[in-house]
Amino acid sequence: MCQVAEAYNDDLEQKEVPSVSKKCVKCKEAIAVVAIRAGDRYCRDCFEQYFRHKFRAILGKNRVISPGEKVLLAVSGGPSSSSMLRQVQEALSPNAHKKLRFIPGIVYIDDGGVFNRSVEERRQTVAKLQDIFQATGFPFHVAPLEQVLELPSSVLAAAWSSSAQRASSYTACADNVIGDASDNCLTAEPPREPSSPYVDQTRLLQQLIDAPKTLTAKEDLLGVLRQHLLVHTARCEGYTKLMFGDNCTRLAVKLISSISLGRGAQLAQDTSFSDSRYGNVMSLKPMRDYSAKEIAYYNHIFRVPSVFTPNLHTKSGEKASIQRLTESFVNKLQVDFPSTVSTIYRTGEKLQTTCKSSSSADPGPRCLLCACSLDTTIENASAFQSTRISECLSQTKCVADAGWTRQGEPCRPSVEERGCCSVASHRVPDATDIRGLLCYSCRLTVKEMSSVDRLPQYILSEAQTRQRRSRMREEIRDFLLED
Ligand SMILES: [Zn+2]
Ligand SMILES: [Zn+2]
Repeated sequence: MCQVAEAYNDDLEQKEVPSVSKKCVKCKEAIAVVAIRAGDRYCRDCFEQYFRHKFRAILGKNRVISPGEKVLLAVSGGPSSSSMLRQVQEALSPNAHKKLRFIPGIVYIDDGGVFNRSVEERRQTVAKLQDIFQATGFPFHVAPLEQVLELPSSVLAAAWSSSAQRASSYTACADNVIGDASDNCLTAEPPREPSSPYVDQTRLLQQLIDAPKTLTAKEDLLGVLRQHLLVHTARCEGYTKLMFGDNCTRLAVKLISSISLGRGAQLAQDTSFSDSRYGNVMSLKPMRDYSAKEIAYYNHIFRVPSVFTPNLHTKSGEKASIQRLTESFVNKLQVDFPSTVSTIYRTGEKLQTTCKSSSSADPGPRCLLCACSLDTTIENASAFQSTRISECLSQTKCVADAGWTRQGEPCRPSVEERGCCSVASHRVPDATDIRGLLCYSCRLTVKEMSSVDRLPQYILSEAQTRQRRSRMREEIRDFLLED
């Protein structure tokens, strides 16, 4: 502890010395303008080189993007994703040192409807972002989150496969469901205005986000819906990679909050550089080696424009949700102990899960909402199983009593739970009973919802399909050959 305190004092003392009087550690000539860590002071040019190199290095090291591949950048307008957009621009520019060769596009999810923003406010935000996007010359897509209500259920079904054959069947399938794909998939020109056509859907979307009682669950649900719309937009427009702007500060927060949310089994996948849970669309996090501070410096010095948009946390206290509380905890710790974020982040890199691999090649059961491998098929002597059994028993009792749970919802055991709920086994599981199709963490989120009927139709339809398939498999089980 003493050592830590000393190091901290050292750091403070160094901070008191005006940084302009120090030379850059790289070129040892120019005067340093940025101090990333104590001892790491860069002049403007060296900092730019360092920042650009980091971006290329992470893509070079992982080698997942092929030349000519279409890559969709998810830009929220925030500092991190805006900085990512700038890095892609720099890396693709003709005079770049080692030019990257992929075809970029930009997508912005306008979720203003969730936060009660007026049509005019949303229009202004979209207009500002459009100016930024147009300046890049890249094609861009503006997708109001309301569109999530119209997604085809194939957006979830296709998450199971990666082969080109399945990919093309997704497109065909999506076309079938939505008629003309161009109606549903957004085109760059003209972007659909978040105006009158969405009034009804905005109300439905608000009801959906209001369905969970806690802000923690609302946030989780919002993240899932956003992810589904991004994957759908990417598939419709022929992109095979999605790039996110998560920096290491955000990932460190995500890592800690994920543990609190019961996502231990999905931790490694949720925070890794590449994630292929959606099969033919791989998610990448090329900003994961940058701290929020580095990004703020870079954006300030090199005038990277960003646009502020409110989120669920705006105006909420630090104890409003698990995610918010974790964020304030990590940030406060980071102020006094500057290596907090990197320690959490490096620890996260070493994590591995004993759950079945979530790679696209694995067709095992996936969570209906987050598409991770199900972590609920574990041995009997676990906390999860005992909670489930006790839930089952209380359900059995309430079915016998009145057929209703305490929350006033009909009591319906899921397919997976039929085995232990013998009293209730005659009841037919329906679309509202989806818990058996969810991972542990998503079960907690759904449990917070006043009614699962509020979930968008594409999720309920896919749940029905999976339940039907599962029932059928159960019926013909005796005739199936062992694997
Ligand atoms: Zn320098
Ligand atoms: Zn899940």
